[in-house]
Amino acid sequence: MKVGFISLGCPKNQLDTEVMLHEILQAGYEITPEDIDADVIIVNTCAFIESAKKEAIDNILDVAWLKKNRSLKAIIVTGCLAERYGEEILEELPEVDAVLGVGSIHNIVEAIEAVTAKKKKGSKQKYFSHEDKDTVRLGGDRVLTTPEYAAYIKIAEGCDNRCAYCAIPSIRGKFRSRPMEDLITEAKQLEALGVKELTVVAQDITRYGLDLYGKYSLAELLHKITEETSIPWIRLLYCYPDKITDELIAEIRDNPRILKYLDMPLQHISDHMLTAMNRHGDGRMIREVLAKLRREIPDIVVRTTFIVGFPGETEEDFCELCEFVKEQRFDHAGVFTYSREEGTPAYDFEDQIDEQVKQDRMDILMRMQMDINEDLNRDKIGKTVTVLCEDYDPVAEVHFGRSAADAPEIDGKVYFKAESRIAPGSMVRVKIRKVVDYDLYGVVVTK
Ligand code: SF4
Repeated sequence: MKVGFISLGCPKNQLDTEVMLHEILQAGYEITPEDIDADVIIVNTCAFIESAKKEAIDNILDVAWLKKNRSLKAIIVTGCLAERYGEEILEELPEVDAVLGVGSIHNIVEAIEAVTAKKKKGSKQKYFSHEDKDTVRLGGDRVLTTPEYAAYIKIAEGCDNRCAYCAIPSIRGKFRSRPMEDLITEAKQLEALGVKELTVVAQDITRYGLDLYGKYSLAELLHKITEETSIPWIRLLYCYPDKITDELIAEIRDNPRILKYLDMPLQHISDHMLTAMNRHGDGRMIREVLAKLRREIPDIVVRTTFIVGFPGETEEDFCELCEFVKEQRFDHAGVFTYSREEGTPAYDFEDQIDEQVKQDRMDILMRMQMDINEDLNRDKIGKTVTVLCEDYDPVAEVHFGRSAADAPEIDGKVYFKAESRIAPGSMVRVKIRKVVDYDLYGVVVTK
């Protein structure tokens, strides 16, 4: 029996895919990368905003075509869309045979057996599992879906921040840290697999430990991971500004293997918007945290994200945000238009903003950020940076990879020439010669 997998959404969802892949292989099934060869396909979905939901449904319908026209026997839907709209999926998408909520990822083998068994008997009965997401076992052995030299580690599940626009707490449940010893064991296993870059993720990694140890314990966890492994690059994604402690700043500053890189979604800067979004902390606190980070860690790379077009966002609010982006010159910034999500407090807010106005504001801010990126990148010409080589492009006859300033899948690349072929996962020194948009170009100087 061959099983195919489509994994959508964020790295946290991708890690659920990796856990399910491991359980499926343990059960003796074969994993196939070719959907056309699969007997069963699992679509692990995302559903936090409209565009993600659309992408999930499009993928399910694409797979449904294989069921009608090829040998595909069953479709299983997992992940956030399954958690949020489980019953609707079974009612409105008759092609789907099974739905597993996020609390049911460890039921994946049972689901495959159920959908394939009933196919043999010709019954129409659907498989539905919606285990309690607040008690599901976190972590577990994984089959890496990232290149062998880079991996994510999910240190907690769920979220307690309750931002007014966000459906994630209702999808993923309350914040739950994984025990430190489990994470150390996992980090060691990943090191043994050849991981050179370990990216730490959760909905809010800075809240790590509060539920389990009664205090913010991210700094302690990072310290232990670098004590117990020799993984050269540890990268931090999804930090929340009001939980950036002095201890964490010191650990990042003083620990050479913690990258001077911080992803910290801010969403806005105007107090009017931050309050309406139920974000913790105001504009002054955010500016102080950024100033402290840059004072303590002068070469820190900061990535952030903003939401424009949140209900009630005035021209003044938006102008304040533009001034803030100009003033702070973030190394990387993503901008999203507000997505009105049912089941979230903001869904019922008055003063919903016109879609075109949202789009215009996003375009203005992205244009501004692109200019800042080009400027900051131009300052890197002539500098030499360490690059984690990802691969070689035989058409362009150039290697490519990422520097410490570039997170996987979301930031820019470094393209570089070398006298000989560089193996993926190797670290090389590259002298930057030119910039094109978000990417850098250079040549290897020393290994
Ligand atoms: S921090 Fe806010 S935006 Fe992020 S997952 Fe939690 S509630 Fe959603």
